[in-house]
Formats: sequence, structure tokens, C-alpha cells
Amino acid sequence: CCNLAMPIPRQKAAEAAAETTSAAISVQHLQMSFGTHQVLRDVDFTVRQGDVISIIGPSGSGKSTLLRCINHLERPTGGAIYYQGQPVGGERFDLPRYRAKVGMVFQSFNLFNNMSVLRNCMVGPMYVLHTPREKARADAMAYLEKVGMTPYVNALPSQLSGGQKQRVAIARALAMHPEILLFDEPTSALDPQMVGEVLSTMRALAQEGMTMVVVTHEMQFAQEISSRVVFMADGYIVEEGPPQQIFQDPQQEKTRLFLSRYL
Ligand code: ADP
Ligand code: MG
Repeated sequence: CCNLAMPIPRQKAAEAAAETTSAAISVQHLQMSFGTHQVLRDVDFTVRQGDVISIIGPSGSGKSTLLRCINHLERPTGGAIYYQGQPVGGERFDLPRYRAKVGMVFQSFNLFNNMSVLRNCMVGPMYVLHTPREKARADAMAYLEKVGMTPYVNALPSQLSGGQKQRVAIARALAMHPEILLFDEPTSALDPQMVGEVLSTMRALAQEGMTMVVVTHEMQFAQEISSRVVFMADGYIVEEGPPQQIFQDPQQEKTRLFLSRYL
């Protein structure tokens, strides 16, 4: 009845509101400055359940800062981020629980170096989610098996290769039962022969329907696994679209120039 009569601006506002609540993550007009250096300029970005989004772009374009703002490791200087309609960092915002739901895997692994592989995967569930120890242990064992790290459960991180550390970091994030996983260049610190094992683990997660946002320079991988590719440069999203479009038919000169370096 009333939809037709509704003035356009209100309809737009209603659509924006619907977007905020239906999207898993909605980033709106995000701005981030470090001092006078503006690193993110008016970034709008949406993650829906089941998305596998690759973020590509030159070094220094703000990709890590965007992920770090989403994970609330940085406090944005402007704009807003919503998780399931709730403002990230707002009143009554539960940061540890949020970080369980929206997990992050770092280039530098960030494992607890004084704890065994198994314990790395148990402490979050035990202390943040209050999972009983035996259940946390069983879950951790299951996720470590999933990433092929069963033989190393009692090892310390220092005894592992980079690829093994990263697979433990993925198991640790999974042990929190996340709804979304953010990956910031998960293979960039690895020796070439370790890259494949981490990408296979991530490919398997994507195929199982995990919602993922992956900052990567692995263009082949991005093309293969993504439902959407976002190209960032100079603190903004230059263009985004399905992988075939971005890689085979980029609309922007900046994107073409960037991709030509990978041919
Ligand atoms: P990318 O991940 O795309 O390489 P970043 O998000 O790491 O880009 O960085 C974007 C810009 O922000 C860079 O110029 C970087 O030097 C700057 N920057 C990032 N973090 C900080 C910080 N904590 N303090 C000052 N400048 C920063
Ligand atoms: Mg980065």
C-alpha cells in the first residue's frame, strides 16, 4: 500500500537501515587518520553471510587498516561499523565476544609463544566463551586435525614452520566458532613452499561456506575462491565486483595498472 507513496529519500534511508541489519558486517563512510595522514577515506564495505571477499591493492593502500578497524584493533576517526546491526565499539559492546565471532588471522601468526599448540587453541574458548576444559580440549583437537596439525599438538610455536604456525592460527580462530574470519596477508610471511598448505586450508574453509575476508597478493587464489574482489588504492575502494570482472575486465585504469604487475 504505502510503498508507492513513500518519498524516495525515505525509501533510500529504509534500504540503508535494512542493509545495516541484514549484512553480517556493514562498514559505512569509514575514515581513519593517523595524525594528519588520512589512511581510509569514506570506505563503504559490506560483508554478507557466505561471502568470500578478497581485498587486493598496493602496499600502503589501507587494506590492513580496514581489517584492523573491523576487528576493532583501531578506533576509526569517522564513519561506523555494524555487526549484525549493532555498532562495533558502541555502548554495551562486548569486544572479546565480538572477536570470537569475527576472528582474525595475521601475517605474523600472533600465537602465544609460551603455550603449546593445543593450549593456544584452548585458552580463547575457556576464558572468553567459558567452555569447560575437556570440551575445549576436544574441540581444539578437532580443529587441529582439520588443519592437519594433530602430530604437533604438544609442540611449542617456536618448533613449527611458518606454514604450520599459520595453520595453528587458523585452528585457534576456528575454535572460537566464528561467523566471519578476516585474514591479513596470511601467506606473505611464508617461504614459498609453505604457501600452498595454508591456501589449501583456506580453500577448504571457503568451500564449507565460511564467511571470509582475505587481504592477499595471491591473485590466482583470489580469483579462484572469491565471490567478490575489492580493489583498494590510496585509502579508498577503487572498484569491486565478481572475480571474472575485476581480473579480466577491470573498469578502472588504476586497477588495470595494478593487475598488470602480476601478469
Ligand atoms: P596496506 O595493508 O594496504 O599495506 P596499511 O593499512 O597497513 O596498508 O597502511 C596504510 C597507511 O597507513 C600506510 O601509509 C601506513 O604507513 C599508515 N599506517 C598504518 N598504521 C599506522 C599507524 N599505527 N600509525 C601511523 N600510520 C599508520
Ligand atoms: Mg597490510
